[in-house]
Amino acid sequence: MTQNHFAALKLSRLLLEILSKEGYSDPTPVQKRLIPVLLSGTNTTVSAQTGSGKTLAFLLPAFEKMIPATLPPVHHYPKLFVLSPTKELAQQIYEVSRPFSRALGLRGVLLQGGGKRQEETRKLKQGVDVIVATPQRALEHIEAKHIDIKAVRHFVVDEADMMFDMGFVSYLEKIFGMLSTGAQKVVVSATITPRVVKLAKSYIQPLRRIELDPPGMIAETITQHLYPVVKSKKEALLSWLISTREIKKALVFVRKKELADGVAESLQSWGYKVGILHGERMHGERKRALLAFREGRISMLVATDIAARGLDIPDLDVVINYDIPHVKHDFIHRVGRTGRAGKEGVAMTLVSPDEIEQLHDLHKVLGSKIKEVILPEFAPKEVKARGYLIQAPQRRRGRTKPNATKRGDIVLNKKGKKRKTTKRDGFKLLDAKKKSSKKRR
Ligand code: ADP
Ligand code: MG
Repeated sequence: MTQNHFAALKLSRLLLEILSKEGYSDPTPVQKRLIPVLLSGTNTTVSAQTGSGKTLAFLLPAFEKMIPATLPPVHHYPKLFVLSPTKELAQQIYEVSRPFSRALGLRGVLLQGGGKRQEETRKLKQGVDVIVATPQRALEHIEAKHIDIKAVRHFVVDEADMMFDMGFVSYLEKIFGMLSTGAQKVVVSATITPRVVKLAKSYIQPLRRIELDPPGMIAETITQHLYPVVKSKKEALLSWLISTREIKKALVFVRKKELADGVAESLQSWGYKVGILHGERMHGERKRALLAFREGRISMLVATDIAARGLDIPDLDVVINYDIPHVKHDFIHRVGRTGRAGKEGVAMTLVSPDEIEQLHDLHKVLGSKIKEVILPEFAPKEVKARGYLIQAPQRRRGRTKPNATKRGDIVLNKKGKKRKTTKRDGFKLLDAKKKSSKKRR
């Protein structure tokens, strides 16, 4: 066996063997940091970038503690309980857990809306050790006394802030309230928000906070491009990008379900094999579309933000944002479907003038990392004239730019030569602002 660096984290031989078999030899930074903390029994919130390996970071310590005295174990009762806001992510976490459950003789079950309730109940009654579930279905089984929630030793909430966005907080609060005080509680996301921390603090004492990356940071491995576009030309730009950039596989995000259907139809009419993933599709349809995309039987998946969280899709080099998401954090998660586990990825964002306000909101997150690409054929007139859509902070400090906001800035004059701005430039700018706000009124 080649050396497995997980050994330094004091994981037992049995787990090291499974890790090697599954192809993991070096722990990622979040795994290095979190595994010892969780092995010591600490409750914690964890924020680390998308694609940094959080799943194994929370699963491994729990499995280490679940290694049974005898193989196979004599009794089965729920010891590890993981909650995910979406079915797709629950399924994925369940798949990651399976080789470990199997090797340790532990039984796992996946509980999710749209799943076969009777089969879930049968498995629960036979006794399970590992539960991965979506919140509502989990609570239904708990209230029906199919799950001995007091027995749970390790409780994990993945993508915790999305629980708020999806209105699952009341389920979460109920479950938190039912756990035994001795259960270890772990709350995870790439975007831990203050309200998540507040909720966690009210149920978890003492609570440690581990931040590998400041919440909301986008992985360095993702190259981001922003394409300003006239709204009516979005579809044409999408088609142009896919063909000229020779995109073979892309996850296309849209804000609304109806739009997903429309964009998918267009992609199909251009000859691509397309799947659709949104909340109104049947459970089976969602499952089939994602599987086909994972396995490369379809090349494009058009999805709403339910697919933005946690999904790990092999060989996904390109994410296309057909628009800006409703929830600021979802942008980070959307683009985080690519550039995972140290691989390079590209995120293309199409933005029309009606989305400029949302874009401003996002700008704190995007900062200078996003590069504007102005394509004369698609960009709005005013953007073409100005040379940019939104001023990145570094441009404001930068040496040359076509317009000025501050006295002393360096701008280009009409002949393209550099000059410093004066007080008069400032007044001109103020006048222009007043004029445009009057027009809007
Ligand atoms: P996150 O939850 O932080 O977004 P995941 O847990 O989904 O990230 O992991 C992202 C990808 O990294 C997955 O494809 C996973 O198989 C891979 N991965 C996780 N840990 C390791 C590791 N130690 N070595 C190599 N790849 C890893
Ligand atoms: Mg994850």
